[in-house]
Amino acid sequence: MAQTPNVIGMTVMQRLKETGEPPTPENYERLYYEISGLPRPAIAAQPAAPVVTEAPPPLEEHTQPGKEFVAEMMGMLRQMLQEVTDKTATLAKDIGEKNKDLTGNVTSLKSSRDKNEILRLLSTVVMQAGGIQHTVEASHKDLVATRQALTSMQEELAETRQLLNEDALTGALNRRGLDQTLMREIARAQRLGVKLSLAMVDLDFFKKVNDQHGHEAGDQMLVHFAGLIKAVLRKSDALVRYGGEEFTLILPDTDARGAHFVLARLQQLMSKSPLVFEGKQINTTFSAGIATLRGDENGHALLRRADEALYVAKDGGRNAIKVAA
Ligand code: GH3
Ligand code: MG
Ligand code: MG
Repeated sequence: MAQTPNVIGMTVMQRLKETGEPPTPENYERLYYEISGLPRPAIAAQPAAPVVTEAPPPLEEHTQPGKEFVAEMMGMLRQMLQEVTDKTATLAKDIGEKNKDLTGNVTSLKSSRDKNEILRLLSTVVMQAGGIQHTVEASHKDLVATRQALTSMQEELAETRQLLNEDALTGALNRRGLDQTLMREIARAQRLGVKLSLAMVDLDFFKKVNDQHGHEAGDQMLVHFAGLIKAVLRKSDALVRYGGEEFTLILPDTDARGAHFVLARLQQLMSKSPLVFEGKQINTTFSAGIATLRGDENGHALLRRADEALYVAKDGGRNAIKVAA
């Protein structure tokens, strides 16, 4: 099977953990090439290039990474950034000191009249200049390697986010997350005999936002809307980006009245919180359909009833909240 940067990166991390080696950029990079079997580029003064260009295999072929993996990556990232900062500070100090010596010797050289003294100073100056060049080159190599390692980690984090069921734009769950969360919550509600409500929420005339203000404004509106929804949800609730400008809210331990209350609060919040984009205020509304889980209903049927209620809200003129029969 072809290895993706993500898979290689995870193996590297695992190996570092097993051997107890410090997760320095050098160790990371060395193991990365060892494990992947890819040719190691000469560390010349070249920009860091992505190592693997082939398309990643389908999701199923990845091992699902957990939150611990992300936490570990973040820890390594912080450590690497600290190392870069330290190295840069050391470099500045080192060059500063060497430069001071060099300047002193050049000054003496200029004023010296003695041939032997001149020859001695000259050879010292040449040596010192070489030393500075060596320091700069070594640091440059170090920084190129660090940048390469950071780029790989950045790619892995982006991929990991996807695998962790999150929508990259809004941070809400994605469709994969919906399936898992809904199945789990339905099983819980049925096991405990408690209520579970679900709401389908869709922005009204969202196409107009894109048309009138541009796609970037549309994207920001989606982030803004997701933020407002999160503000009215409880910790135990879940928010899913169902697709485009449509979101699903999963509300455990909540009956239809409770769900209606949450959405009415969202409606109120929306009316008071326009998106500010390039100095302009953009107002919008949403429509919602609510369904509460029936005895032996499955997720598919629950979603369909909420969607039908949403359709009724849209059909009735929008900016409305409807509860499924
Ligand atoms: P309605 O009130 O009937 O829901 O009308 P609407 O305009 O909101 O719905 P419609 O389905 O006609 O258009 C949805 C638009 O959402 C079209 C599509 O380009 C846009 N859209 C979908 N996903 C994104 C996205 O990620 N970013 C941006 N900016 N626009 C998106
Ligand atoms: Mg819409
Ligand atoms: Mg829609």
